[in-house]
Amino acid sequence: MAKAIIIGAGIGGIATAIRLRAKKYEVLVIEANNYPGGKLHYKKLGKYRFDLGPSLFTMPQYIDELFKLHQKNPKDYFQYSKKQVLCNYFWDDGTVFSAKAQKEAFIEEASKTFDEPQKHIKDYLSKSGKKYDLTAPLFLENSLHKLRTYISTDTIKAIFQIGQLGINQSLNSFNKKVFKSNKLVQLFNRYATYNGSSPYQTPGIMSMIPHLEMHYGVYFPKGGMHQITQSLFKLAEDIGVEFKFNEPIEEIKIDNGKASGVKSIKGNYASDVVVSNMDIYPTFKKLLSGQKQPEKILRQERSSSALIFYWGISKSFEELDLHNIFFTSNYQKEFEHIFKEKKLYKDPTVYINITSKEEPNDAPKGHENWFVMINAPGNYNQNWTALKEQSRKNIIAKLNKILEIDIEKHIVSEFVLDPMDIESNTSSYRGALYGAASNSKFAAFLRHPNFSSTIKNLFFCGGSVHPGGGIPLCLLSAKIISDITPAVEHEIFNKE
Ligand code: FAD
Repeated sequence: MAKAIIIGAGIGGIATAIRLRAKKYEVLVIEANNYPGGKLHYKKLGKYRFDLGPSLFTMPQYIDELFKLHQKNPKDYFQYSKKQVLCNYFWDDGTVFSAKAQKEAFIEEASKTFDEPQKHIKDYLSKSGKKYDLTAPLFLENSLHKLRTYISTDTIKAIFQIGQLGINQSLNSFNKKVFKSNKLVQLFNRYATYNGSSPYQTPGIMSMIPHLEMHYGVYFPKGGMHQITQSLFKLAEDIGVEFKFNEPIEEIKIDNGKASGVKSIKGNYASDVVVSNMDIYPTFKKLLSGQKQPEKILRQERSSSALIFYWGISKSFEELDLHNIFFTSNYQKEFEHIFKEKKLYKDPTVYINITSKEEPNDAPKGHENWFVMINAPGNYNQNWTALKEQSRKNIIAKLNKILEIDIEKHIVSEFVLDPMDIESNTSSYRGALYGAASNSKFAAFLRHPNFSSTIKNLFFCGGSVHPGGGIPLCLLSAKIISDITPAVEHEIFNKE
């Protein structure tokens, strides 16, 4: 049987393992850490449980698909529920808006809260859907780097309608042309952060992102976000994928222009196919250091990182939901600080995720588990100790003002994750959450392909390569790899 080795057990690596197993590969996943999941991991602090990384779950059908591929019932492994409230938004002037999942309710309430004609919001959401439908089959679900993608009817449709995609203006300019309310512009600008970019630089095509939430929905996995990778890990083991933990890979072996295996800290492993789920930057710089480097791609600007305070809170807050945003009063300044100055802004936008709202066991009764995150620049060796200290004060001052409370009194447990930690935990270059940023016209389309064009049988999956970061796109990278890897029975292995 042909053998595939996958470097890394992040969601991209596990999903690729499951897909290659369905293609009848013998699959070995070798992971540096002692757990599966990569950024999708959790931590317990006393009686509080926290998801460490992702908190927003969309497109659960991509997960279900992996179980069905192996004739398993997804519900036997993984359950989730649909959220009726997408997010609660707060502004310094006391404005509060609870964004409903139900589209008509969202439009009606947003129109009233922001004094914006319903038609503006309705048209915006409908265009968001059109952009998504036009681009997803071409840019997200296929390799951009294979000729067959360009001779499909979907591509031809997209090319003819390219003017409508908003590529020639920033997301902020696009939103400002649609909405008269600055708050609504800010609300829709926020979607640029879903791929770690700035709304003042990322192109207007990113206005398709709200469609993912507003049309396909926002979900919460039973047991918390880490259940996504835990359930996929269980499936992978059930179908015969082998895992090795605590075993960092040091080199990808190349023989006669073909990937022939890997060298880990414990020894050598031969394989017919190698897939790296490690961030593309260290994959080339460390594991392929003797090979030609795709310097232009590796030099791409990185996405934002994050500073996260995990707080056990000895109180519960009726006005908060699973997802909550406390907006800065100067969004543009905040993004300039993050991307241009590589600093943290004094009045940051604060995101609070509270899984105990959905999963009461995540905090003691009457308490809540707060995941308090601000967007941060990547790790450029800033003084993170000082930045953390100052940011903590700024965040607390902001929350105290808006929630009219002394939050410090209620923080009973705490730990913090900064961009340096994110970088060292999963080898994510500069601690980027989503690989490269999409801060220019075509950046989203210029990520590294899912295969090597110079080394045969070498593939790349996960958030730092095509089609991008975030759980749904990592899952799509696995799908693309399974579409382009050789069929075990026919193509390379038996014939060569
Ligand atoms: P990773 O999860 O980084 O996994 C890579 C794996 O490779 C790791 O396990 C690592 O240990 C292993 N590895 C690295 N080097 C080696 C080596 N040499 N040998 C062996 N193994 C190695 N996405 C969303 O969809 N929604 C969100 O709300 C969201 N919020 C986020 C918040 C935070 C704080 C963070 C950090 C990320 C967030 N993301 C979110 C992004 C999402 O987590 C990532 O896009 C996704 O998890 C990346 O998965 P991956 O498989 O590419 O890589």
